[in-house]
Amino acid sequence: MELREFLDQTIEKNKPLIAQGHVATYIPELAKVNPNQLGAAIVNPDGTIISSGDCNVKFAIESISKTVVLALALLDNGEEEVFKHMHKEPSGDAFNSIIKLETEPDHLPRNPYINPGAIMTTSLIKGANKEEKFNRILTFMQKIAEDDTLDLATETYLSEKATGDINRALTYYMKGQGVFPADVNDTLDVYFKQCSINVTCISLAKIAGFFARGGVLSTGERVIPKRYAQIVTGLIATCGMYDQSGAFLDNIGVPGKSGVGGGILCPLSSKKIGIAVFGPAIDKEGNSTAGMGILKDLSIKMDYDMF
Ligand code: GLN
Repeated sequence: MELREFLDQTIEKNKPLIAQGHVATYIPELAKVNPNQLGAAIVNPDGTIISSGDCNVKFAIESISKTVVLALALLDNGEEEVFKHMHKEPSGDAFNSIIKLETEPDHLPRNPYINPGAIMTTSLIKGANKEEKFNRILTFMQKIAEDDTLDLATETYLSEKATGDINRALTYYMKGQGVFPADVNDTLDVYFKQCSINVTCISLAKIAGFFARGGVLSTGERVIPKRYAQIVTGLIATCGMYDQSGAFLDNIGVPGKSGVGGGILCPLSSKKIGIAVFGPAIDKEGNSTAGMGILKDLSIKMDYDMF
């Protein structure tokens, strides 16, 4: 069976899992999204794309942006500097938990993919002001997604900003402990905007392909050193699905980075393949229920193995 036909069938097969999740409601704009959408896309090593379902629907990238911003922060500052501000270990807690900021002796975030670590990473992006910092993130994301149409969803951004008090609490906590190196409100503004960039399943799969090829575009152009792509993908494997990261890697066998908009980005470096799914109904950890079902079926069918 053609892979395209398999994707069509597995999307249908996993539709019942939509009922096991709900669209995110803590960001009001995301609560308006139709939960019944499902899409999948695969980018082959040569850049060709196989896609199915709602693969051209625009949705908010949310936490998947954390991978792209980490890559840019590494380019801007180097590995040593970035990891003076955060650890590289799973947290075992929810993405917006404050617990470990208090209990870690140095009060630094456990990793760049939970919210405090991601906000810390955003604070390291270079730029004269918050507008320039966000524009650098957007331009970098467009480049590695090979898609100039990626843009800010203003309504989502305003919605995140209006309801982002837990993110404010996390950031002020770090500031109060003397470990946050930048202005709290300016950094949060950039963070809310980066989470509110609209992507499609296809553009996400292209970003996954970029990381899977070790930081090289489908044209062959190298954008980041291979080492930085390894850091981004290694941490996706260990921390990308929050406190479900271990079970996800065990069940599905590919690294995944989720967002509460319903996307999951999977860079499969061993095969130089980029995969993305979109299903806005998410579970309590914030991960797409049907999206994970599709990835599991695909992984079994293709015998995907990250080692
Ligand atoms: N913008 C969201 C937040 O900060 C991202 C969370 C996520 O996708 N897990 O809460």
